[in-house]
Amino acid sequence: MLKLPIYLDNHATTPVDPRVLEDMMPYFKDDFGNAASKSHEFGWRAKHAVDKARVRIAMLINAEPHEIIFTSGATESNNLAIKGVAEFYRLKGTKIITSPIEHKSVLDVCKSLSKWGYEIVFLNVDKYGLVDINELADRIDDKTILVSIMTANNEIGTIQPINEIGEICKEKKVLFHTDAAQAMGKIPVDVKEMNTHLMSLNAHKMYGPKGIGALYIRSKRPRVSLSPQIDGGGHERGFRSGTLNVPVIAGFGRACEIAQTEMDDEVKRIAMLRDKLQSGITSKLEEVYLNGHPEKRVPNNLNLAFAYTDADSLMTSMKEIAVSSGSACSSEEVEPSYVLKAIGLSDDLAHCSIRFGLGRFNTEEEIDYTVNKVVEKVKELRGISPVYKLAKAELK
Ligand SMILES: *Cc1c(COP(=O)(O)O)cnc(C)c1O
Repeated sequence: MLKLPIYLDNHATTPVDPRVLEDMMPYFKDDFGNAASKSHEFGWRAKHAVDKARVRIAMLINAEPHEIIFTSGATESNNLAIKGVAEFYRLKGTKIITSPIEHKSVLDVCKSLSKWGYEIVFLNVDKYGLVDINELADRIDDKTILVSIMTANNEIGTIQPINEIGEICKEKKVLFHTDAAQAMGKIPVDVKEMNTHLMSLNAHKMYGPKGIGALYIRSKRPRVSLSPQIDGGGHERGFRSGTLNVPVIAGFGRACEIAQTEMDDEVKRIAMLRDKLQSGITSKLEEVYLNGHPEKRVPNNLNLAFAYTDADSLMTSMKEIAVSSGSACSSEEVEPSYVLKAIGLSDDLAHCSIRFGLGRFNTEEEIDYTVNKVVEKVKELRGISPVYKLAKAELK
């Protein structure tokens, strides 16, 4: 039996996997200890859970456990990485290179750093959202201290040429940070292959709990330093103080362990459902355009522009399907998505764009339902649109 509503907004957040929840429960109850309490069993048990999670997270990205620093999420990790490097390397230089389609938690950090005298360079992106690595190589100079480019975009799913970016940064001896929140568990992520020095992660985009994330900080060749942004107590090797949230850390670890063993099969299944959704819609409707890259995108992403169809009206007409228009984080605003603008989409088409985000718990039945519903509602809305009628009349 098909259960409504259908959740297709997995880029905003994912449900917690029942196995993850199960692993978290003991640490809310009997094993409530403080992982920093060294003198008794309660503390030891908590510490053991944290250590185990740290190993699991490190394994998924091919890092060493001590290179994983727990934070409250990818927003905090991005803040720590960028502000931390900016502060620590201030005397070396003040130039930071990024892209215009980063998550707000990177863009807003850069904005606030520009008030402190840092120079922020935005690389161009093409119509797919890809940065140009030649432009990157050209823009790096001896004042450049950091390059921050996301692994995969949260709206259009585009996967950047991360290995090449990492290679250039390595050659030019500039630190490279990547926000991998949308990539973890969807594509292989390997900090060594990517030549990345800093990587932001979170749990709630990969079937773990909210409010927990991590920053990978490379410890060798080169050893990366940064200024902590939260002081007090020296937890997490001094990079991030505060009592660790043991239950959600245990959940994050389990989520990574599941991703490690199941990703290959899961990704195939989800990509198949995504392709079915895409071809189902585009074969039955004209003037539907794909936002993002047809191949270089995460397997769970489908961002479509339905010409002559206001995205918010479409969503209102199919309330039993949870999707989003523009970026989830700015859906309060009426401004078209800055990501869609940056890839050159007209305001009109941006306002007609819907992001479908598939996930672990979606079924084929749900996809079939969604295809039918979207096709029906788009036809309905176009049928009452004067602009659509006018455009069709002109074509005749
Ligand atoms: C969700 C997301 C974030 C923010 O992560 P939180 O853990 O919610 O703070 C940052 N970057 C990207 C790419 C995201 O998708």
